[in-house]
Amino acid sequence: MVGRSLSAITLVLLCLQYAANSCAADRYRASDFERVEKIDAHVHLNSAAHPFIVQAIHDHFSLLTINVDYPDFPQLELQQSVALELHKRYPRRVEFAAALSVADFQSPAWSDGEIRRIDAAIEQGAVGVKIWKNIGMSLRDPDGRYVMIDDPRIKPVIDHLEERGIVLLGHQAEPLNCWLPFDKMTVKGDRAYFREHPQYYMYRHPEVPSHEAQLAARDRMLAAHPALRFDSVHLASLEWDVEEVARFLDRFPKANVDLAARMVHLQYQAATNPDKVSSFLIRYQDRILYGTDIAVASGQSGEAAANEARDTWRTDWQFLTSSGIMHTDEFAASFHALGLPKTVIDKIYRINAETMYPQFL
Ligand SMILES: [Zn+2]
Repeated sequence: MVGRSLSAITLVLLCLQYAANSCAADRYRASDFERVEKIDAHVHLNSAAHPFIVQAIHDHFSLLTINVDYPDFPQLELQQSVALELHKRYPRRVEFAAALSVADFQSPAWSDGEIRRIDAAIEQGAVGVKIWKNIGMSLRDPDGRYVMIDDPRIKPVIDHLEERGIVLLGHQAEPLNCWLPFDKMTVKGDRAYFREHPQYYMYRHPEVPSHEAQLAARDRMLAAHPALRFDSVHLASLEWDVEEVARFLDRFPKANVDLAARMVHLQYQAATNPDKVSSFLIRYQDRILYGTDIAVASGQSGEAAANEARDTWRTDWQFLTSSGIMHTDEFAASFHALGLPKTVIDKIYRINAETMYPQFL
């Protein structure tokens, strides 16, 4: 007993040698990256992607590959068959989410057909269903009106997901930068994306429902489905201010958010207010999933995506786990790494994804 008390005292004293809120025993080191089991809960693997999988295995990542009703991606049947093959070949290492399709949306049989398709995908092993920003931003009725996510024609599908406990992964709207002129955008990646995809650059399309209208429709849909298990990807398109994300999470207790392609917005906020960002991640540690949004295009070997993942995964780990000053080419200011405790890191990097998608277990 005496020995145990002494070692406990020694540990406390050792911890006190470090800064008040960063006891080293509670924090991961850079070298822990390769041994800690992690999940990237937001990638898009549209080919066999062998080098990407090899990198993921090396870095101890499991992957959720998400199908999307996106014209730049292969047809949904092909996306799903590629995902299913990967899942069969690497069970638990690769899980997949199917996607809602708006082809044939004007048919009165659309919702019944989608429900059947979704149930078949779940039967094959899909862990959830993605609904994309084409609803709200590009799908239109013959009279020209944009179809929003709370449309009564979509409701039966969402009712079905809610009843069956199937996760809906929702990408509505875009980063707020999408509604700003290029010189007002906060990060370089958004400038590049909207230059390359002018059809989604809403600053140039005032006829499309606003950012606010997109999110209001999403929130009305969630309010009407209080039991829906919802993975609100890309920080719920509220990436510019963690306090906005906090309000969203408070309002919808069944919703989680992922960090995919929005880590840079946390870094941007950490340039001026790192405590606000780390307090947010600590307070909502049970409801945030790590993800990157890295994609392997159809027909690609996966080599380039593997290199991108290797770098992104390490940089993100450094930002979230270490302390000190970091730099990015995304914006001019330097920013503070967050030095989050191990318990929080384990939840964001693995446990929350396992809770939401127990197929990973
Ligand atoms: Zn994505």
